[in-house]
Amino acid sequence: MSDWTSLGYLLAAVLFILGLKGLTSPRTAVRGNLLGATGMLVAVVTVLAGGGLSLGWIVAGLALGAAAGAWLALTVAMTAMPQLVALFNGFGGGASVLVAGAELHGMAVRGGEIATDIAVATAASGLIGMVTLTGSLVAWSKLEERWLSGSVRLPHHHWINAGLGAVALLLAVVVSAWPPALPAYWGLVVLAGVLGVTLVMPIGGADMPVVIALLNSYSGLAAAATGFVLANTVLITAGALVGASGLILTKIMCDAMNRSLPDVLFGTMEAGGAAKADEIYEGRIKRTTAEEVAMLLEAARVVTIVPGYGMAVAQAQHAVRDLADCLKRRGAEVRYAIHPVAGRMPGHMNVLLAEAEVPYDEMYDMDSINPLMHETDVAIVLGANDVVNPLAREQSGNPIAGMPIIDVDKAGTVVVIKRSLSPGFAGLPNPLFAADNTLMLFGDGKQAVLELVQALKGA
Ligand code: NDP
Repeated sequence: MSDWTSLGYLLAAVLFILGLKGLTSPRTAVRGNLLGATGMLVAVVTVLAGGGLSLGWIVAGLALGAAAGAWLALTVAMTAMPQLVALFNGFGGGASVLVAGAELHGMAVRGGEIATDIAVATAASGLIGMVTLTGSLVAWSKLEERWLSGSVRLPHHHWINAGLGAVALLLAVVVSAWPPALPAYWGLVVLAGVLGVTLVMPIGGADMPVVIALLNSYSGLAAAATGFVLANTVLITAGALVGASGLILTKIMCDAMNRSLPDVLFGTMEAGGAAKADEIYEGRIKRTTAEEVAMLLEAARVVTIVPGYGMAVAQAQHAVRDLADCLKRRGAEVRYAIHPVAGRMPGHMNVLLAEAEVPYDEMYDMDSINPLMHETDVAIVLGANDVVNPLAREQSGNPIAGMPIIDVDKAGTVVVIKRSLSPGFAGLPNPLFAADNTLMLFGDGKQAVLELVQALKGA
Protein backbone atom coordinates (compact mmCIF):
# COMPACT_ATOMS: atom_id res chain seq x y z
CA MET A 1 0.00 0.00 0.00
CA SER A 2 1.47 3.40 -0.96
CA ASP A 3 1.99 6.21 1.55
CA TRP A 4 -0.71 8.25 -0.18
CA THR A 5 -3.20 5.41 0.13
CA SER A 6 -2.37 4.97 3.83
CA LEU A 7 -2.74 8.71 4.37
CA GLY A 8 -6.10 8.73 2.55
CA TYR A 9 -7.38 5.82 4.69
CA LEU A 10 -6.16 7.52 7.86
CA LEU A 11 -7.92 10.77 6.94
CA ALA A 12 -11.12 8.84 6.11
CA ALA A 13 -10.98 6.99 9.46
CA VAL A 14 -10.47 10.25 11.39
CA LEU A 15 -13.44 11.81 9.55
CA PHE A 16 -15.63 8.77 10.37
CA ILE A 17 -14.76 9.05 14.06
CA LEU A 18 -15.38 12.81 14.14
CA GLY A 19 -18.64 12.19 12.24
CA LEU A 20 -19.79 9.65 14.84
CA LYS A 21 -18.85 12.04 17.62
CA GLY A 22 -20.99 14.72 15.94
CA LEU A 23 -23.93 12.34 15.73
CA THR A 24 -24.04 11.97 19.51
CA SER A 25 -25.93 15.26 19.91
CA PRO A 26 -28.80 16.70 17.84
CA ARG A 27 -27.02 20.08 17.78
CA THR A 28 -23.94 18.68 16.03
CA ALA A 29 -25.65 15.89 14.07
CA VAL A 30 -25.79 17.71 10.71
CA ARG A 31 -22.07 18.51 10.89
CA GLY A 32 -21.39 14.91 11.98
CA ASN A 33 -23.30 13.60 8.98
CA LEU A 34 -21.32 15.84 6.61
CA LEU A 35 -18.00 14.76 8.15
CA GLY A 36 -18.96 11.08 7.83
CA ALA A 37 -20.01 11.56 4.19
CA THR A 38 -16.78 13.43 3.42
CA GLY A 39 -14.83 10.55 5.03
CA MET A 40 -16.65 8.13 2.72
CA LEU A 41 -15.80 10.30 -0.31
CA VAL A 42 -12.13 10.37 0.72
CA ALA A 43 -12.19 6.56 1.16
CA VAL A 44 -13.80 5.97 -2.27
CA VAL A 45 -11.42 8.36 -4.07
CA THR A 46 -8.41 6.76 -2.31
CA VAL A 47 -9.47 3.26 -3.35
CA LEU A 48 -10.08 4.34 -6.95
CA ALA A 49 -6.83 6.30 -7.14
CA GLY A 50 -4.95 3.25 -5.79
CA GLY A 51 -5.56 1.64 -9.21
CA GLY A 52 -5.58 -2.05 -10.06
CA LEU A 53 -9.36 -2.04 -10.41
CA SER A 54 -11.52 -2.74 -13.42
CA LEU A 55 -12.96 0.75 -13.72
CA GLY A 56 -15.70 -0.25 -16.18
CA TRP A 57 -17.33 -2.53 -13.61
CA ILE A 58 -16.86 0.02 -10.82
CA VAL A 59 -18.51 2.81 -12.81
CA ALA A 60 -21.37 0.49 -13.82
CA GLY A 61 -21.87 -0.53 -10.15
CA LEU A 62 -21.71 3.07 -8.98
CA ALA A 63 -24.23 4.17 -11.60
CA LEU A 64 -26.62 1.34 -10.77
CA GLY A 65 -26.31 1.85 -6.99
CA ALA A 66 -26.63 5.64 -7.26
CA ALA A 67 -29.71 5.34 -9.49
CA ALA A 68 -31.38 2.81 -7.17
CA GLY A 69 -30.44 4.87 -4.07
CA ALA A 70 -31.69 8.13 -5.56
CA TRP A 71 -34.94 6.52 -6.68
CA LEU A 72 -35.51 5.01 -3.21
CA ALA A 73 -34.62 8.25 -1.41
CA LEU A 74 -36.95 10.30 -3.61
CA THR A 75 -39.92 7.94 -3.53
CA VAL A 76 -39.87 6.45 -0.03
CA ALA A 77 -42.61 7.74 2.26
CA MET A 78 -41.32 9.25 5.52
CA THR A 79 -43.26 6.55 7.37
CA ALA A 80 -41.36 3.84 5.49
CA MET A 81 -37.90 5.10 6.55
CA PRO A 82 -37.44 2.39 9.22
CA GLN A 83 -38.09 -0.31 6.62
CA LEU A 84 -35.59 1.35 4.29
CA VAL A 85 -32.98 1.42 7.05
CA ALA A 86 -33.61 -2.30 7.68
CA LEU A 87 -33.10 -3.00 3.96
CA PHE A 88 -29.88 -0.95 3.90
CA ASN A 89 -28.52 -3.02 6.82
CA GLY A 90 -29.46 -6.19 4.97
CA PHE A 91 -27.87 -5.11 1.68
CA GLY A 92 -24.67 -4.23 3.57
CA GLY A 93 -24.55 -7.79 4.91
CA GLY A 94 -25.36 -9.26 1.47
CA ALA A 95 -22.60 -7.20 -0.18
CA SER A 96 -20.07 -8.51 2.35
CA VAL A 97 -21.08 -12.11 1.58
CA LEU A 98 -20.65 -11.59 -2.16
CA VAL A 99 -17.35 -9.70 -1.95
CA ALA A 100 -15.82 -12.25 0.46
CA GLY A 101 -17.15 -15.10 -1.74
CA ALA A 102 -15.74 -13.52 -4.91
CA GLU A 103 -12.35 -13.08 -3.24
CA LEU A 104 -12.40 -16.73 -2.14
CA HIS A 105 -13.10 -17.77 -5.75
CA GLY A 106 -10.28 -15.50 -6.92
CA MET A 107 -7.88 -17.08 -4.41
CA ALA A 108 -8.97 -20.57 -5.55
CA VAL A 109 -8.31 -19.67 -9.19
CA ARG A 110 -4.96 -18.02 -8.45
CA GLY A 111 -3.91 -21.08 -6.43
CA GLY A 112 -1.31 -20.94 -3.67
CA GLU A 113 -1.79 -21.11 0.05
CA ILE A 114 -4.60 -19.16 1.71
CA ALA A 115 -3.62 -17.81 5.13
CA THR A 116 -5.76 -19.03 8.04
CA ASP A 117 -6.67 -15.51 9.20
CA ILE A 118 -8.02 -14.68 5.73
CA ALA A 119 -9.99 -17.93 5.62
CA VAL A 120 -11.47 -17.26 9.09
CA ALA A 121 -12.44 -13.72 8.05
CA THR A 122 -14.08 -15.07 4.87
CA ALA A 123 -16.15 -17.58 6.85
CA ALA A 124 -17.13 -14.85 9.35
CA SER A 125 -18.21 -12.62 6.48
CA GLY A 126 -20.36 -15.36 4.95
CA LEU A 127 -21.97 -16.28 8.27
CA ILE A 128 -22.61 -12.83 9.76
CA GLY A 129 -23.37 -11.14 6.42
CA MET A 130 -26.00 -13.65 5.40
CA VAL A 131 -27.70 -13.69 8.82
CA THR A 132 -27.82 -9.89 8.48
CA LEU A 133 -29.35 -10.03 5.00
CA THR A 134 -32.17 -12.49 5.66
CA GLY A 135 -32.75 -11.28 9.25
CA SER A 136 -33.13 -7.73 7.94
CA LEU A 137 -35.57 -8.89 5.26
CA VAL A 138 -37.71 -10.48 7.99
CA ALA A 139 -37.42 -7.26 10.05
CA TRP A 140 -38.46 -5.27 6.96
CA SER A 141 -41.48 -7.51 6.49
CA LYS A 142 -42.53 -7.06 10.13
CA LEU A 143 -42.08 -3.28 10.04
CA GLU A 144 -44.01 -3.14 6.76
CA GLU A 145 -46.59 -5.44 8.41
CA ARG A 146 -46.59 -7.40 5.18
CA TRP A 147 -46.44 -11.23 5.16
CA LEU A 148 -45.12 -11.36 8.72
CA SER A 149 -46.13 -9.49 11.84
CA GLY A 150 -45.63 -9.99 15.55
CA SER A 151 -43.88 -13.08 16.89
CA VAL A 152 -43.99 -16.10 14.55
CA ARG A 153 -42.69 -19.26 16.21
CA LEU A 154 -41.90 -22.60 14.63
CA PRO A 155 -42.38 -25.59 16.91
CA HIS A 156 -39.14 -26.24 18.85
CA HIS A 157 -37.61 -23.10 17.33
CA HIS A 158 -34.80 -23.04 19.92
CA TRP A 159 -33.68 -26.49 18.81
CA ILE A 160 -33.99 -25.57 15.13
CA ASN A 161 -31.80 -22.49 15.70
CA ALA A 162 -29.28 -24.44 17.76
CA GLY A 163 -29.06 -27.14 15.04
CA LEU A 164 -28.69 -24.62 12.21
CA GLY A 165 -26.12 -22.64 14.21
CA ALA A 166 -24.07 -25.77 14.99
CA VAL A 167 -23.95 -26.95 11.34
CA ALA A 168 -23.14 -23.40 10.15
CA LEU A 169 -20.26 -23.20 12.65
CA LEU A 170 -19.00 -26.59 11.48
CA LEU A 171 -18.95 -25.38 7.87
CA ALA A 172 -17.18 -22.18 9.00
CA VAL A 173 -14.51 -24.39 10.61
CA VAL A 174 -14.14 -26.36 7.34
CA VAL A 175 -13.67 -23.11 5.34
CA SER A 176 -11.17 -21.82 7.92
CA ALA A 177 -9.15 -25.03 8.18
CA TRP A 178 -9.18 -26.22 4.55
CA PRO A 179 -9.64 -23.15 2.33
CA PRO A 180 -10.88 -22.42 -0.24
CA ALA A 181 -13.52 -25.17 0.36
CA LEU A 182 -15.95 -23.35 -1.95
CA PRO A 183 -18.90 -25.77 -1.53
CA ALA A 184 -18.57 -25.43 2.26
CA TYR A 185 -18.54 -21.60 1.95
CA TRP A 186 -21.70 -21.46 -0.16
CA GLY A 187 -23.33 -24.13 2.01
CA LEU A 188 -22.52 -21.93 5.02
CA VAL A 189 -24.09 -18.95 3.25
CA VAL A 190 -27.32 -20.86 2.56
CA LEU A 191 -27.57 -22.15 6.16
CA ALA A 192 -26.81 -18.70 7.56
CA GLY A 193 -29.61 -17.35 5.37
CA VAL A 194 -32.09 -19.80 6.91
CA LEU A 195 -30.73 -19.03 10.39
CA GLY A 196 -31.30 -15.28 9.87
CA VAL A 197 -34.96 -16.01 9.14
CA THR A 198 -35.52 -18.40 12.03
CA LEU A 199 -33.69 -16.15 14.50
CA VAL A 200 -35.71 -13.01 13.74
CA MET A 201 -39.12 -14.63 13.09
CA PRO A 202 -40.00 -15.31 16.76
CA ILE A 203 -38.97 -11.84 17.90
CA GLY A 204 -41.87 -9.49 17.73
CA GLY A 205 -43.87 -6.93 19.57
CA ALA A 206 -41.91 -4.31 21.37
CA ASP A 207 -38.55 -6.13 21.10
CA MET A 208 -38.01 -5.30 17.42
CA PRO A 209 -35.92 -2.16 18.11
CA VAL A 210 -33.27 -4.32 19.79
CA VAL A 211 -33.13 -6.64 16.78
CA ILE A 212 -32.84 -3.76 14.33
CA ALA A 213 -29.96 -2.24 16.31
CA LEU A 214 -28.27 -5.65 16.49
CA LEU A 215 -28.62 -6.29 12.74
CA ASN A 216 -27.13 -2.85 12.17
CA SER A 217 -24.17 -3.91 14.28
CA TYR A 218 -23.87 -7.24 12.39
CA SER A 219 -23.74 -5.42 9.05
CA GLY A 220 -20.70 -3.52 10.37
CA LEU A 221 -19.03 -6.68 11.70
CA ALA A 222 -19.53 -8.43 8.34
CA ALA A 223 -18.00 -5.43 6.55
CA ALA A 224 -15.03 -5.44 8.95
CA ALA A 225 -14.48 -9.16 8.31
CA THR A 226 -14.57 -8.48 4.55
CA GLY A 227 -12.03 -5.71 5.15
CA PHE A 228 -9.64 -8.38 6.52
CA VAL A 229 -10.29 -10.59 3.47
CA LEU A 230 -9.40 -7.71 1.13
CA ALA A 231 -6.66 -6.33 3.43
CA ASN A 232 -8.46 -3.00 3.21
CA THR A 233 -7.82 -0.90 6.33
CA VAL A 234 -10.57 1.62 5.75
CA LEU A 235 -13.22 -1.11 5.39
CA ILE A 236 -11.99 -2.70 8.63
CA THR A 237 -12.16 0.66 10.42
CA ALA A 238 -15.58 1.67 9.03
CA GLY A 239 -17.02 -1.80 9.69
CA ALA A 240 -15.66 -1.87 13.24
CA LEU A 241 -17.14 1.58 13.93
CA VAL A 242 -20.57 0.49 12.66
CA GLY A 243 -20.29 -2.77 14.59
CA ALA A 244 -19.32 -1.06 17.84
CA SER A 245 -21.85 1.78 17.61
CA GLY A 246 -24.56 -0.75 16.69
CA LEU A 247 -23.69 -2.74 19.81
CA ILE A 248 -23.89 0.40 21.95
CA LEU A 249 -27.30 1.17 20.41
CA THR A 250 -28.39 -2.42 21.11
CA LYS A 251 -27.44 -1.93 24.77
CA ILE A 252 -29.35 1.38 24.91
CA MET A 253 -32.42 -0.29 23.39
CA CYS A 254 -32.16 -3.27 25.79
CA ASP A 255 -31.97 -0.85 28.74
CA ALA A 256 -34.94 1.11 27.37
CA MET A 257 -36.96 -2.11 27.20
CA ASN A 258 -35.61 -3.40 30.50
CA ARG A 259 -34.50 -6.59 28.74
CA SER A 260 -31.24 -8.47 28.48
CA LEU A 261 -29.99 -9.38 25.02
CA PRO A 262 -30.33 -13.16 25.61
CA ASP A 263 -33.92 -12.49 26.75
CA VAL A 264 -34.70 -10.87 23.44
CA LEU A 265 -32.86 -13.39 21.27
CA PHE A 266 -33.75 -16.58 23.10
CA GLY A 267 -36.47 -15.47 25.49
CA THR A 268 -39.91 -16.90 25.76
CA MET A 269 -41.73 -13.66 25.25
CA GLU A 270 -45.48 -13.84 25.55
CA ALA A 271 -47.40 -13.42 22.33
CA GLY A 272 -49.82 -10.49 22.20
CA GLY A 273 -53.40 -11.68 22.43
CA ALA A 274 -55.79 -10.54 19.74
CA ALA A 275 -56.92 -7.24 21.11
CA LYS A 276 -60.63 -6.66 21.05
CA ALA A 277 -60.27 -3.22 22.57
CA ASP A 278 -63.66 -2.03 21.40
CA GLU A 279 -65.33 -4.78 23.45
CA ILE A 280 -62.99 -4.57 26.44
CA TYR A 281 -63.53 -0.85 26.94
CA GLU A 282 -67.16 -0.71 25.78
CA GLY A 283 -68.95 2.02 27.73
CA ARG A 284 -65.79 3.10 29.62
CA ILE A 285 -64.30 5.48 27.07
CA LYS A 286 -64.78 9.24 27.37
CA ARG A 287 -64.80 10.83 23.93
CA THR A 288 -63.94 14.46 23.60
CA THR A 289 -63.83 17.18 20.94
CA ALA A 290 -61.17 19.68 19.85
CA GLU A 291 -63.17 22.52 21.43
CA GLU A 292 -63.31 20.75 24.81
CA VAL A 293 -59.59 20.02 24.74
CA ALA A 294 -58.85 23.63 23.75
CA MET A 295 -60.71 24.76 26.89
CA LEU A 296 -58.55 22.47 29.01
CA LEU A 297 -55.39 23.71 27.32
CA GLU A 298 -56.32 27.34 27.88
CA ALA A 299 -56.16 26.74 31.62
CA ALA A 300 -53.04 24.54 31.54
CA ARG A 301 -49.70 25.78 32.84
CA VAL A 302 -47.66 22.74 31.83
CA VAL A 303 -48.52 20.68 28.73
CA THR A 304 -46.55 17.53 27.90
CA ILE A 305 -46.78 16.14 24.37
CA VAL A 306 -46.00 12.43 23.97
CA PRO A 307 -45.46 11.59 20.29
CA GLY A 308 -45.54 8.06 18.92
CA TYR A 309 -45.61 6.22 15.64
CA GLY A 310 -49.00 7.74 14.77
CA MET A 311 -47.40 11.20 14.63
CA ALA A 312 -45.08 9.86 11.92
CA VAL A 313 -48.00 8.29 10.04
CA ALA A 314 -50.02 11.49 10.21
CA GLN A 315 -46.94 13.66 9.51
CA ALA A 316 -48.24 15.87 12.30
CA GLN A 317 -44.88 17.24 13.51
CA HIS A 318 -45.29 20.71 11.98
CA ALA A 319 -48.87 21.00 13.27
CA VAL A 320 -47.60 19.95 16.72
CA ARG A 321 -44.99 22.69 16.62
CA ASP A 322 -47.76 25.21 15.73
CA LEU A 323 -49.83 23.97 18.66
CA ALA A 324 -46.85 24.31 21.02
CA ASP A 325 -46.15 27.85 19.78
CA CYS A 326 -49.79 28.75 20.30
CA LEU A 327 -49.71 27.36 23.87
CA LYS A 328 -46.45 29.12 24.68
CA ARG A 329 -47.87 32.43 23.51
CA ARG A 330 -50.63 31.86 26.06
CA GLY A 331 -48.04 31.42 28.81
CA ALA A 332 -47.97 27.62 29.09
CA GLU A 333 -44.77 25.58 29.29
CA VAL A 334 -44.59 22.86 26.64
CA ARG A 335 -42.51 19.71 27.05
CA TYR A 336 -42.06 16.82 24.63
CA ALA A 337 -41.64 13.39 26.21
CA ILE A 338 -39.63 11.04 24.01
CA HIS A 339 -39.66 7.32 24.72
CA PRO A 340 -36.52 5.60 23.37
CA VAL A 341 -38.52 3.09 21.31
CA ALA A 342 -41.34 5.39 20.17
CA GLY A 343 -41.93 5.14 16.42
CA ARG A 344 -40.30 2.48 14.31
CA MET A 345 -36.60 3.31 14.42
CA PRO A 346 -34.18 4.59 17.05
CA GLY A 347 -34.41 8.38 17.24
CA HIS A 348 -37.55 8.44 15.02
CA MET A 349 -39.40 11.05 17.09
CA ASN A 350 -36.29 13.24 17.55
CA VAL A 351 -35.78 13.32 13.78
CA LEU A 352 -39.38 14.32 13.09
CA LEU A 353 -39.46 17.00 15.79
CA ALA A 354 -36.08 18.36 14.68
CA GLU A 355 -37.50 18.59 11.14
CA ALA A 356 -40.23 20.84 12.57
CA GLU A 357 -37.52 22.83 14.38
CA VAL A 358 -38.77 22.05 17.85
CA PRO A 359 -36.19 23.49 20.28
CA TYR A 360 -33.97 20.75 21.74
CA ASP A 361 -34.38 21.99 25.29
CA GLU A 362 -38.11 21.23 25.09
CA MET A 363 -37.42 17.53 24.33
CA TYR A 364 -37.13 15.33 27.42
CA ASP A 365 -36.08 11.73 27.43
CA MET A 366 -38.12 9.23 29.43
CA ASP A 367 -35.92 9.28 32.52
CA SER A 368 -36.02 13.06 32.79
CA ILE A 369 -39.73 13.54 32.10
CA ASN A 370 -41.18 10.81 34.31
CA PRO A 371 -40.24 12.46 37.64
CA LEU A 372 -41.88 15.66 36.30
CA MET A 373 -45.07 14.07 35.01
CA HIS A 374 -47.07 15.00 38.14
CA GLU A 375 -46.46 18.70 37.28
CA THR A 376 -48.23 18.25 33.94
CA ASP A 377 -51.76 19.64 33.71
CA VAL A 378 -52.54 18.14 30.30
CA ALA A 379 -50.63 15.32 28.62
CA ILE A 380 -51.34 15.00 24.89
CA VAL A 381 -50.60 11.48 23.64
CA LEU A 382 -50.28 11.84 19.90
CA GLY A 383 -50.33 8.52 18.05
CA ALA A 384 -48.42 6.77 20.83
CA ASN A 385 -49.73 3.53 22.26
CA ASP A 386 -47.27 0.86 23.49
CA VAL A 387 -44.95 3.46 25.03
CA VAL A 388 -47.75 4.70 27.33
CA ASN A 389 -49.47 1.35 27.95
CA PRO A 390 -49.75 0.64 31.72
CA LEU A 391 -49.80 -3.12 30.98
CA ALA A 392 -46.02 -2.74 30.67
CA ARG A 393 -45.91 -2.30 34.46
CA GLU A 394 -46.90 -5.94 34.91
CA GLN A 395 -43.99 -8.27 35.58
CA SER A 396 -44.93 -10.87 32.96
CA GLY A 397 -47.78 -12.15 30.84
CA ASN A 398 -47.61 -9.79 27.87
CA PRO A 399 -45.06 -8.76 25.21
CA ILE A 400 -44.25 -5.39 26.80
CA ALA A 401 -44.19 -6.54 30.45
CA GLY A 402 -41.32 -4.88 32.30
CA MET A 403 -40.75 -2.14 29.71
CA PRO A 404 -40.53 1.33 31.28
CA ILE A 405 -43.21 3.67 29.89
CA ILE A 406 -43.90 7.40 29.90
CA ASP A 407 -46.05 7.84 33.02
CA VAL A 408 -48.74 9.96 31.33
CA ASP A 409 -51.36 8.66 33.75
CA LYS A 410 -49.72 10.81 36.46
CA ALA A 411 -50.75 13.99 34.58
CA GLY A 412 -53.90 15.89 35.60
CA THR A 413 -55.68 15.02 32.34
CA VAL A 414 -54.56 12.79 29.50
CA VAL A 415 -55.81 13.47 25.97
CA VAL A 416 -55.16 10.55 23.61
CA ILE A 417 -55.29 11.43 19.91
CA LYS A 418 -55.64 8.44 17.58
CA ARG A 419 -58.09 7.19 14.98
CA SER A 420 -59.62 4.25 16.84
CA LEU A 421 -59.10 1.97 19.83
CA SER A 422 -56.88 -0.33 17.78
CA PRO A 423 -53.72 -1.62 19.48
CA GLY A 424 -50.12 -0.52 18.92
CA PHE A 425 -47.23 -2.53 17.47
CA ALA A 426 -47.28 -5.09 20.31
CA GLY A 427 -50.94 -5.94 19.62
CA LEU A 428 -52.21 -5.19 23.13
CA PRO A 429 -55.30 -3.34 24.33
CA ASN A 430 -54.39 -0.23 26.32
CA PRO A 431 -56.12 0.33 29.69
CA LEU A 432 -54.98 3.98 29.56
CA PHE A 433 -57.82 4.67 27.13
CA ALA A 434 -60.38 3.79 29.82
CA ALA A 435 -58.61 5.50 32.74
CA ASP A 436 -60.56 8.03 34.80
CA ASN A 437 -58.39 10.97 33.75
CA THR A 438 -58.20 10.06 30.04
CA LEU A 439 -60.17 11.69 27.23
CA MET A 440 -60.10 10.19 23.73
CA LEU A 441 -59.93 12.57 20.78
CA PHE A 442 -60.53 10.30 17.79
CA GLY A 443 -59.19 11.31 14.39
CA ASP A 444 -56.12 11.60 12.22
CA GLY A 445 -53.26 13.05 14.28
CA LYS A 446 -52.52 16.03 12.03
CA GLN A 447 -56.16 16.92 11.47
CA ALA A 448 -56.90 16.73 15.20
CA VAL A 449 -53.93 18.96 16.11
CA LEU A 450 -54.86 21.49 13.41
CA GLU A 451 -58.40 21.58 14.85
CA LEU A 452 -56.94 22.15 18.32
CA VAL A 453 -54.86 25.09 17.04
CA GLN A 454 -57.93 26.49 15.31
CA ALA A 455 -60.04 26.11 18.45
CA LEU A 456 -57.34 27.77 20.59
CA LYS A 457 -57.01 30.68 18.17
CA GLY A 458 -60.78 31.14 18.14
CA ALA A 459 -60.98 31.04 21.93
P1 NDP B 1 -47.51 2.08 18.52
O1 NDP B 1 -47.15 1.35 17.29
O2 NDP B 1 -47.61 1.34 19.80
O3 NDP B 1 -48.91 2.85 18.32
C1 NDP B 1 -49.06 3.76 17.29
C2 NDP B 1 -50.50 4.25 17.34
O4 NDP B 1 -50.59 5.29 16.38
C3 NDP B 1 -51.50 3.19 16.91
O5 NDP B 1 -52.19 2.69 18.03
C4 NDP B 1 -52.42 3.91 15.92
O6 NDP B 1 -53.78 3.87 16.39
C5 NDP B 1 -51.92 5.35 15.96
N1 NDP B 1 -51.96 5.96 14.64
C6 NDP B 1 -51.60 5.43 13.46
N2 NDP B 1 -51.82 6.30 12.47
C7 NDP B 1 -52.31 7.41 13.04
C8 NDP B 1 -52.75 8.68 12.53
N3 NDP B 1 -52.71 8.95 11.22
N4 NDP B 1 -53.19 9.59 13.38
C9 NDP B 1 -53.24 9.32 14.73
N5 NDP B 1 -52.85 8.15 15.27
C10 NDP B 1 -52.40 7.20 14.42
O7 NDP B 1 -46.48 3.29 18.63
P2 NDP B 1 -45.52 3.75 19.81
O8 NDP B 1 -44.69 4.82 19.22
O9 NDP B 1 -46.28 4.01 21.06
O10 NDP B 1 -44.64 2.46 20.11
C11 NDP B 1 -43.68 1.99 19.18
C12 NDP B 1 -43.78 0.48 19.07
O11 NDP B 1 -43.03 0.06 17.92
C13 NDP B 1 -43.18 -0.21 20.28
O12 NDP B 1 -43.86 -1.40 20.52
C14 NDP B 1 -41.75 -0.47 19.80
O13 NDP B 1 -41.12 -1.51 20.49
C15 NDP B 1 -42.01 -0.86 18.35
N6 NDP B 1 -40.85 -0.68 17.48
C16 NDP B 1 -40.02 0.39 17.66
C17 NDP B 1 -38.89 0.51 16.90
C18 NDP B 1 -37.92 1.62 17.19
O14 NDP B 1 -36.73 1.48 16.87
N7 NDP B 1 -38.38 2.73 17.75
C19 NDP B 1 -38.56 -0.46 15.82
C20 NDP B 1 -39.56 -1.51 15.67
C21 NDP B 1 -40.65 -1.60 16.49
P3 NDP B 1 -54.99 4.06 15.36
O15 NDP B 1 -54.80 3.08 14.28
O16 NDP B 1 -56.20 3.84 16.20
O17 NDP B 1 -54.91 5.49 14.87
